[in-house]
Amino acid sequence: MGFRYFVLFMFLRLFLIVNGRNLSESSSTPINQDLYHSSDALEEQIRDLVSRHPNKLKIETIKTQNKGYLAEISVVTYSHSNNEIDNKSKFRILLSFGQHGRELITTELALRLLSILSEEQRIPNSDPVFLNRTLDNLVIKVVPMENLNGRKLVEAGDLCERRNGRGVDLNRNWSVDWGKKEKDYDPYEENPGTGPFSEPETQIMRKISQSFDPHVWINVHSGMEALFMPYDHRNITPDGLASHVMRSLLENLNDLHCQGRCLVGSGGGSVGYLAHGTATDYMYEVAKVPMTFTFEIYGDTDASSKDCFKMFNPTDTITFNRVLNDWCGAFFTIFKTAKWRLDGTYSNTSNEKLGKLESIDEYLEGYLMERSSRYGKRTEVLELGMQEIRTYFRLFLLSSVLLMFMFCSRISKSKCTSIRPLA
Ligand SMILES: [Zn+2]
Repeated sequence: MGFRYFVLFMFLRLFLIVNGRNLSESSSTPINQDLYHSSDALEEQIRDLVSRHPNKLKIETIKTQNKGYLAEISVVTYSHSNNEIDNKSKFRILLSFGQHGRELITTELALRLLSILSEEQRIPNSDPVFLNRTLDNLVIKVVPMENLNGRKLVEAGDLCERRNGRGVDLNRNWSVDWGKKEKDYDPYEENPGTGPFSEPETQIMRKISQSFDPHVWINVHSGMEALFMPYDHRNITPDGLASHVMRSLLENLNDLHCQGRCLVGSGGGSVGYLAHGTATDYMYEVAKVPMTFTFEIYGDTDASSKDCFKMFNPTDTITFNRVLNDWCGAFFTIFKTAKWRLDGTYSNTSNEKLGKLESIDEYLEGYLMERSSRYGKRTEVLELGMQEIRTYFRLFLLSSVLLMFMFCSRISKSKCTSIRPLA
């Protein structure tokens, strides 16, 4: 009799344990293996891709060790030319993904972007001839997985881990305003390390940025939908025209690829907390990269804060592909427009008169944007048209000035000088 009760009791207990485990599992979404690559599989896919396109892609792996802690980062370089000197004169873009281990979607975006660059996949509604022409003048370096050691911890089951393999947040380990702690500082999330650049991953990234000297830097994260520019450690954006150009690019991206949902502005001012020692602030302040951004590509605000996989990564196929397509589209808009936006800035700063043309540029852009939104979609043709209109406008102004000059030199001097304001 007693034995029968014992068996019944054990059976009930087993039932509860199994049910309990099921309950805890359902409150924490596991990694969707059908959608997401493991870090090893992702690395393999990228290596295979590079070996299939040696004329456009190359890969190198950089390793650094510090106090027995080894880190390695692979960098893929996309260029139509293998000539280093040729590449130095091109427009250079540096993109980093997977700085935080738990943000798996960002590394998938790196793979998708490289597939599109290699032309094995396409962005919906894009013209491959136009893309090729744009890409001809660019060198793009992609770091698909900045934090491999942290990612391994996530894959081993610690789905909320964002730090590197020894507990340091790689986006707090840079030198600008390093180590400053806010009132809500959480060592689990934001441990900045023992000093600026204490971590080999950050050292490697700094080395890449120093040798590559990019014009554009983008640090790709997830957890929300946002397009951030400096500063992260202050709640303002920098002064000056370059800052203005960055913001107008981000607003353009928000309209075109984020359906206006993304937060746009300084990281520190928009996200609700200040972050010290970030990569983007370093790239802007110290490395003097003229365009520096942090993109937050996806976030599930309804997910429980303990359900990290769901909070930081899409869990269904439709959302997964939508996120990858939208953000690849955003990158290509940057590839197409960042250079002429920056060219405008530099010519403006060197010439006061051209400064006025910037406002004409803005006027035209605003006008065309308004028109495009009224008529539904903004096309590449429209963008090309805008560039042409700008060129014609400049030529028109230049010829007007020349005509005025010729006119003045022909008629009497007194008449010409009479239209000048009196001192
Ligand atoms: Zn992050």
